[in-house]
Amino acid sequence: MQATIALAGNPNSGKTTLFNALTGARQHVGNYPGVTVETKEGVCSHRGGELRIVDLPGTYSLTAYSMEEIVTRDFLTGRKPDVVIDVVDASNLERNLFLAVQLMEMGAPLVLCLNMVDAARNRGIEVDAGALSTLLGVEVVPTVARTGKGREALLDAAVRKAQDGTGSEPLVISYGNDLDEAIASMQDRIRSRAFLAGAGPARWIALKYLEEDAEILGKGDAADPELSASLREVVRKVSLHIARTLDTEPEALISDQRYGYIHALLREGIVRRQHDENRMYVSDRIDRFLTHRLLGPLVMLVVVMGLYRFMFTYSERPVEWVEGIFAWLGRLASAHLPEGMLRSLVVSGVIDGVGGVLSFVPLILLMFFGIAFLEDSGYLARVAFMLDRVFRIFGLHGNSVMAFIVAGGIAGGCAVPGVMAARTLRSPRERLATILTVPFMNCGAKLPVFAVLIAAFFAEARETVMFAITLISWAGALLAAKLLRSTVIRGPATPFVMELPPYRVPTLRGLLIHTWERTWQYIKKAGTVILAIAIVLWAMMTFPALSDSHSERFERERAVILASASTERAGELEAVARAEAEAGLRHSVAGRIGGALERVTRWAGFDWRTNIALLGGFGAKEVVVSTLGTAYSLGEVDPERSGGLAETLATNPGWNRAVAWSLIIFTIFYAPCSVTVVCIVREAGSWKWGAFSVLFNTAVAFALAVIVYQAGMALGAG
Ligand code: GDP
Ligand code: MG
Repeated sequence: MQATIALAGNPNSGKTTLFNALTGARQHVGNYPGVTVETKEGVCSHRGGELRIVDLPGTYSLTAYSMEEIVTRDFLTGRKPDVVIDVVDASNLERNLFLAVQLMEMGAPLVLCLNMVDAARNRGIEVDAGALSTLLGVEVVPTVARTGKGREALLDAAVRKAQDGTGSEPLVISYGNDLDEAIASMQDRIRSRAFLAGAGPARWIALKYLEEDAEILGKGDAADPELSASLREVVRKVSLHIARTLDTEPEALISDQRYGYIHALLREGIVRRQHDENRMYVSDRIDRFLTHRLLGPLVMLVVVMGLYRFMFTYSERPVEWVEGIFAWLGRLASAHLPEGMLRSLVVSGVIDGVGGVLSFVPLILLMFFGIAFLEDSGYLARVAFMLDRVFRIFGLHGNSVMAFIVAGGIAGGCAVPGVMAARTLRSPRERLATILTVPFMNCGAKLPVFAVLIAAFFAEARETVMFAITLISWAGALLAAKLLRSTVIRGPATPFVMELPPYRVPTLRGLLIHTWERTWQYIKKAGTVILAIAIVLWAMMTFPALSDSHSERFERERAVILASASTERAGELEAVARAEAEAGLRHSVAGRIGGALERVTRWAGFDWRTNIALLGGFGAKEVVVSTLGTAYSLGEVDPERSGGLAETLATNPGWNRAVAWSLIIFTIFYAPCSVTVVCIVREAGSWKWGAFSVLFNTAVAFALAVIVYQAGMALGAG
């Protein structure tokens, strides 16, 4: 066969020596057109075929900083060699793989030549070529170019690569939340217009824009000025953001993550050193402790519990203050608005609904602050690293860990970016399994439900119960993943390496910005989506109103009480008002639906009011807590005397710990909110998976809730 093989590699990795060993005297030196950088071409016979070999200039990277790099890049995209052999120095893998990783990201048909294994061995370094090959998904052939050892095996591997014609599937490295989001949005635009399609895969082009690669930017501006400008705008925004939060620039972050990827790769027992050269970095030292097989998980436990304690302890007072403000607003509205529909809408719909969500802002804020600290310091990446081992057992992938954490794996994320984060998974099966299980995590909207129930029934063990909730949701997600991966989406696991970026000391400014951005999202949602849903639910809970004859009955009862000389008149009047409000709610559309469902949900201990709240939760999970608030406050005649929702539930005879646990379990597992479902449909590429997640999750949630409730009642929780 007639194939072109390009030799790439760092300077002094032995490329020219290898080239000579392959081509012998059959070579000629030619300058690459227009530049003074030398490329050599030669011919080599192998098993009866002729191979054309090109020795590219030595480079460390594929940026556009030097002529060597530009020549190498242009050759790869312009001449499209059938195979690229990256010659790496086995005794200096970490640095040499930096180029390999970029070639893989570019989607080059790669074979790795692990050269100078003799010199490495002399220095006490042994590289496991087989393991490296599995993890990278690229053939790795050990060679000694100087003696020609490994020559045939290398050529065989190259010919195999040229013949199978696949393997140009580009490597996807995660560059952290901010950059990944920017890359995803750029990638879509680039793909949709086949922008610079000749220069490399879409993700690669996006990366080059982020690295502000002058050459690609120039080409892009010429090819499609409008699109290029929009990409530059994305870059400008994310650069600004990164400058403000992390005090660095995308290019530095990208190179950090690439080194992080290699670093983690080499930790997987690929390099064995006889005598430990004293090359431990600070990050390494810290990692010895923080990702230690036994100590690591213990530290993680302490960190997560610490976070929960921090957020519950310091949010308690502020949450009460905000609740106080809304209670005051409610009294104000009750006092100044005339009795009737408008007052009911403002007090029960808007203030109770939105206020119920907003009063958790202090809790959410502290939680985001804690998460931002873990993320910015680099610790979250270590958590992912440790959990990766567990994830593999359940048919998920190390990259799934980040998606889980983004979705609220520790506390309070959001399933939507979690589902999107699954894009970094290469295997479609693992990706789908991740997308479908990510909604089981405890997003910021579920947190208030837990907070209320914990305050009402488990006030003395807040962190412990919260930690148990977290464990339950992870266990459920992992088991569901295992179930899916061994039935509907069966298939092999892909090897994986996790990025371990260096530790950083977070800047206060960065933390505050990250915290505020996410908290603001929560507030904005309360003022828009949640407000709209709250109003719709209020209407459903108010109409149709009681018939006149019905209302007259309550009027008559009132008249009787007023006419009597009873000393308990106030209490009796209140009881009548409660009965009237409850009759009204039961009569409404929502009340009828909730009541009809009660026949089934009774098994899990949910009354018709809870059913209304859970139905509202399909729209957005925040609505669960606010609707519970509305449903249980409709009967309150005297706002002065009403405590918070937690108090109402704690004193309500229909509620107990079994109901609370059952509701917690149901909330963790039932259908994802509407926005997430839309996102799942888009990302999984079929509405069927959206429907599946609604039905499957709700079925699982209900089954578990029933078990928990029945067991709880049997154990005497009632
Ligand atoms: P290039 O810059 O990548 O073209 O590297 P060269 O081919 O010029 O080699 C750099 C040096 O490494 C030379 O002194 C080679 O003799 C030496 N060298 C190349 N391959 C090997 C090898 O497999 N083992 C050892 N011990 N030395 C090698
Ligand atoms: Mg050379």
